[in-house]
Amino acid sequence: MHITGSCHCGNISYEAEIDPAAVGLCHCTDCQVLSGTAFRLTVQVPKEQFKLKGTPKIYIKMAESGNKRAQAFCDECGSPIYATAAIHPQVFGIRLGTCHQRAQLVPTRQIWCRSALPWLEQIDAGKRIANQSA
Ligand SMILES: [Zn+2]
Ligand SMILES: [Zn+2]
Repeated sequence: MHITGSCHCGNISYEAEIDPAAVGLCHCTDCQVLSGTAFRLTVQVPKEQFKLKGTPKIYIKMAESGNKRAQAFCDECGSPIYATAAIHPQVFGIRLGTCHQRAQLVPTRQIWCRSALPWLEQIDAGKRIANQSA
């Protein structure tokens, strides 16, 4: 599936060829903090299938294991764009909150469920207010 996306201010945009069956949610605590929300929606693509326009800012995240990951985001508006290996990136994890087709991309798996926020299962019971301005 062909997807397109961009950050909130439009300085960074991308196109990619993805497998919609590979869309996943990550509940790890790093994703919660780095996304500023409850979980992260991501799809992995090989670098040949990912075309980026604009130059994101890179934050290198060091895992407890010593593994380094480059977190790319727009230095103007702060939207997270992708994560990849800090050295010799081959695969990019696109942050699908920035993807124009995100409503069609249904996650097929969830990882790091141990740190998933406990209220997520009940969220559908919450009161829905249509078109509230953020
Ligand atoms: Zn931006
Ligand atoms: Zn994560």
